[in-house]
Amino acid sequence: MVAIVALNTYPVAIARDLVFVSKENAILPQTLQIGSSVELLERMTPNTVGQVVRLTETGNLSRVSVMNTNMDELYSVRNDVTGYDERVLFSLVNIAVSQRKDEFRSFFNDGAFMSYAAVPIVDGGQVVGAVGVYEYDAAEGAIVLGLRNDMTSISLGLGAAAMVVSVLLSQTMGYRLRRILDAIKNVREGEYTYRIAVTGHDELTTLSQEFNSLTDRLQKTEEIRRRFVADASHELKTPLAAIRLLSDSILETENMDGETVKEFVGGIREESERLARTTGQLLELTKLDNNPSAAARVDVNCVEVAQRVAATLSPIARRAEVELVTHFDRAHIMATSDELFQIVYNLVENAIKYNRPGGEVVLSVGRDGEKVKITVEDTGIGIPEEDMPYIFDRFYRVEKSRDRDEGGTGLGLSIVKATVARHGGEVTAGPRPGGGTRFTVAFPAYTQGKD
Ligand code: ADP
Repeated sequence: MVAIVALNTYPVAIARDLVFVSKENAILPQTLQIGSSVELLERMTPNTVGQVVRLTETGNLSRVSVMNTNMDELYSVRNDVTGYDERVLFSLVNIAVSQRKDEFRSFFNDGAFMSYAAVPIVDGGQVVGAVGVYEYDAAEGAIVLGLRNDMTSISLGLGAAAMVVSVLLSQTMGYRLRRILDAIKNVREGEYTYRIAVTGHDELTTLSQEFNSLTDRLQKTEEIRRRFVADASHELKTPLAAIRLLSDSILETENMDGETVKEFVGGIREESERLARTTGQLLELTKLDNNPSAAARVDVNCVEVAQRVAATLSPIARRAEVELVTHFDRAHIMATSDELFQIVYNLVENAIKYNRPGGEVVLSVGRDGEKVKITVEDTGIGIPEEDMPYIFDRFYRVEKSRDRDEGGTGLGLSIVKATVARHGGEVTAGPRPGGGTRFTVAFPAYTQGKD
């Protein structure tokens, strides 16, 4: 905008000033020439002055006036006196007479240049009068006026173009911003599949891309949350339905024999134990989710923890006719011994549970370079390759019905994974060469550990 205003006024001002200078250069010498001609006279009378002035070139001047020091006009030429202001000419003549100075003024008004000049007439070192002239020039004024009009049209055109461009620009920006706002509104209302069509190469494009990747993550999290809620309610509903069925059967069957009642009540007990286990593990997971970084970690002797797990589970192994073998080498990590106990316990318990009579479980603890490795290998039924990627997912069971008979909840391995991650470790699973499964847990070793 400032540029347009400058474009409108600056060239016009320069053109006008140039005309002022050229006027001064033309009119002042002309006036001096009249003055010099008068100075050649012996006596300044209206007659003699008129004669010399008529001989000089004054065609362009609207008014020529020769005065004595009393400001009496001795001779004057009056052509067209448009725009003439006597006060200006008199004040210039006054200065010329009193200060013995050449004077020039020029004005640009109403599309015309009005120029005044006055020079002193000197005789014998004395100022005896002055010549004052006035010129009215509409031709050059018209040129400057034309320039001004041209500039106005150009700047108006430029201003209009700038406005059109800025309106178009703000409209496209507005449209793109509205699309982003719409997307935010839709996603806020739960429409996680909504994406912004990405166009352009500016900040709004980056913003749209960021928004889309944020929505991707939201969508994934939301899917996981929905699946979890659906799975959790299903897992809680199943034992509740079984309890209800068993209790209804007892209540509605008249004269049920004691043996059957005992069997049904046993079933109710089993289902309620499963409920307790599932809710307990769900609470455990919620705790891990809410506080993913570990509480106060201390030096934990992995061998000591693994020994306790083996001792706790050996009666169960014996009952399942599975031999529990251990290989222990000194290993320390920074963790909490309760959580390490739970990790190893879950893995060894699974290795016994999914084994065969006469099978074997090998629990090994030891260092592997900078790591501590705990491996649990079994000679059991194994995990099909296609199930392998999912076994750490919540509620995932390889064979749903059979595992449920075993009392499994499908939560044990997801708790293991989250707990291992809390202590900077990693758990992996794969087939054991020769049949069965191998779970490996690796933690950063704590080298200053004390036995
Ligand atoms: P669950 O409480 O059902 O055992 P987990 O999360 O501990 O749940 O295990 C998930 C699934 O992985 C189990 O249902 C089981 O089918 C399979 N699985 C876990 N450990 C083993 C193993 N050592 N051998 C074979 N299958 C296993």
